[in-house]
Amino acid sequence: MTAVFRFDVFTILPDMVDAAAGESLLGRARARGVLDVRVHDLREHTTDVHRSVDDAPFGGGAGMVLRPEPVFASVEAADPARPLFLLGPGGRRLDQAWARELAAGGGLSLLCGRYEGVDDRVRTELCDGELSIGDYVLGGGEVAALVVLEAVGRLVPGVMGNASSAEDESFADGLLEYPHYTRPAEFRGHRVPDVLRSGDHGAVARWRRAAALDRTRRDRPDLIEARGGLDPGERALLEWFDGLGGPPAPTTAP
Ligand code: SAH
Repeated sequence: MTAVFRFDVFTILPDMVDAAAGESLLGRARARGVLDVRVHDLREHTTDVHRSVDDAPFGGGAGMVLRPEPVFASVEAADPARPLFLLGPGGRRLDQAWARELAAGGGLSLLCGRYEGVDDRVRTELCDGELSIGDYVLGGGEVAALVVLEAVGRLVPGVMGNASSAEDESFADGLLEYPHYTRPAEFRGHRVPDVLRSGDHGAVARWRRAAALDRTRRDRPDLIEARGGLDPGERALLEWFDGLGGPPAPTTAP
């Protein structure tokens, strides 16, 4: 019996989060009871007739700020899984290693900001940390919450059917993943590498390792640097790969 991983999400747009978390891999894991995703509407904890969650910023300036009362009330009523992260561009940036760490726990919670942001006492007095999905500004935390749900959720034991696919994929060992191909073997004049159709498992494994190194060195040289460069075996593998001629076209824009 695998343990249930719990996600609590606090938002003023609960339908948006709930609908997306009901699809595909996450939806199936929810239906099977492996993931327990609870979406909380911050407006349920407003006390005024307008159910207002925002107010003007002290000090003036453009935009509105999420008020602390409904956020505190909502979190306190839900007694959510911890850690509870405020979503925001100033937080620690999510990467695959952190996603793995989080997936190894029993659950986590996410608080979605909107407008100009959230009263800072929510961050300092209520949340355990702040999480960013990248160096850009979204209109609200909902899409970021879905990114975290998907990146972490798929790594929770029992969510993905084939556990080995998480071991092979990009970033798992500091490299991008090798390219994939399916039928047809030739498409618009572009052939799948012959070795993948050879039935020689050793050769396929060698090609995939080399292709992963090759793609990483071209598209993300910073990852190669971060793992301390290439060892002699990897250099030899890449020489062999270069000799095969014509690696697939670069996969990222220049
Ligand atoms: N004024 C803020 C941005 C507010 S954007 C600033 O300049 O930092 C509104 C909300 O969107 C934020 O409260 C946060 O919850 C969410 N958000 C925006 N960008 C994000 C990012 N990169 N990662 C996670 N959440 C983000």
